[in-house]
Amino acid sequence: MTLQIETIPCLSDNYAYLAHDPDSGETAVVDVPEAAPILDALAKKGWTATHVLITHHHADHVQGLSELLAQHNAQVVGHAADAKRLPPLDLALNDGDTLQIGRETGHVIDVSGHTIGHIAFHFPQSKVAFTADSLMALGCGRVFEGTMPQMWDSLCKLGALPPDTTICSGHEYTAANARFALTIDPDNPELISRAEAVDAAREKGHPTVPTRLSEELATNPFLRAADPGIQAHLGMTGAAPAQVFAEIRRRKDNF
Ligand code: ZN
Ligand code: FE
Repeated sequence: MTLQIETIPCLSDNYAYLAHDPDSGETAVVDVPEAAPILDALAKKGWTATHVLITHHHADHVQGLSELLAQHNAQVVGHAADAKRLPPLDLALNDGDTLQIGRETGHVIDVSGHTIGHIAFHFPQSKVAFTADSLMALGCGRVFEGTMPQMWDSLCKLGALPPDTTICSGHEYTAANARFALTIDPDNPELISRAEAVDAAREKGHPTVPTRLSEELATNPFLRAADPGIQAHLGMTGAAPAQVFAEIRRRKDNF
C-alpha cells in the first residue's frame, strides 16, 4: 500500500504534511510550522507521529517541533550537514541517504539554494516528494543562502523525478506565482488554464497543493528555463538554462 498524504494548512500560508503507512501504522510529519493544526490532524485520523522530517532550518518549518514532541514520541530526521542550525536530530542524513516509513523507503535529496542544507524527501514507491521551499507549485523558493546555479541544479534534480510524482511544497503562494508565471510564459495555454484553476480554488479557500511534477514541468517557469519560447520572450535565445533561471528568479524577486 502507498503512503496516505494529508495536507495541513499552518500559520498564514505554510503547509505541513502527514505521510501515513497503513501497513505499519507509522506516520511521518513533514515540517512543523506550528503544532496545533498538526496535533488536530493526527488526532482526527487516530494516527501517532513516529517521524518528523525537517526540510530546512527556517523557523516557519521547525518552530512547532517541541510542542509536537511533547505529545508524540517521534524520531526527528534532518540534514546532517545542517545539524548545527536544526533542532536536535535523532537521525541525521545526507544527500543520497534513505530512511524507512514502514516498508516505504524515502530518499534524501540535497536541494540547496533557498538555504544551504535544504533537503527534499522522495518516496518513489508512493510517487511523492516533499519539496518545501525548493520546488513549489508554479514557483520556487527565494535564493537566500545558495547561488543561482546551485538552485537551478537543485530544481533539475527534482525535475528529473518521474513526472507522475506528487509534489508537496511548503507554502500557499500559487496564485501570486501564477500571476508572475504569466509574465514569463504568457502564451502557454496550460499555464493560462492552470492560473484560472488556481484562482478558482483559492476563491473557495481550497489548497492548491499538492501538485504533480508533470504539471510543474508544463507550467512552472522556474523548471522551464530551457524552453525556447520563454528564452525568446526574455531575449535570451540560446542562453544557458542556469542563466535563464537566474534571470527569471531575479524578475520574481522584483515582481
Ligand atoms: Zn524557508
Ligand atoms: Fe518557508
